[in-house]
Amino acid sequence: MDRVLKRGSPEEELIRRAREARSNAYSPYSGVKIGAAVLARDGSIYAGCNIENSSYGLSNCAERTAIFKAVSEGRRELVSMSIVGDSEEFTRPCGACRQVMVQFNPRLRIIRVGLVDGYRSETTAEKLLPEAFNPSSLTRKS
Ligand code: ZN
Repeated sequence: MDRVLKRGSPEEELIRRAREARSNAYSPYSGVKIGAAVLARDGSIYAGCNIENSSYGLSNCAERTAIFKAVSEGRRELVSMSIVGDSEEFTRPCGACRQVMVQFNPRLRIIRVGLVDGYRSETTAEKLLPEAFNPSSLTRKS
């Protein structure tokens, strides 16, 4: 079960950055705006938004945008992530994003925030994607 966070916690900056990124969402087709921010072990924060494409399958979610930005800047040790969705309740990352989260840290702390005060919860990547395909899944068994 998700743990409910208290307001004013140290995660506020991470949430603020996700909210800020959300305002940059490019979503002319769905109209949905999502922002995410990921904290690397060295304290740096990378934020991202959803970016849609007229060829829908090429669209990218906010969560993956943030993680890819961090990794492309050499940050692979990811500690926590905030996600600010477009609904009153907290958003639920898609399967592709969950897989990418698990790839870099199964214990990645995920803080999800809704647009209405009070909707905030915490979980981990491995809770969002139990029994995930991971690097050890590539080991030959025969
Ligand atoms: Zn996604």
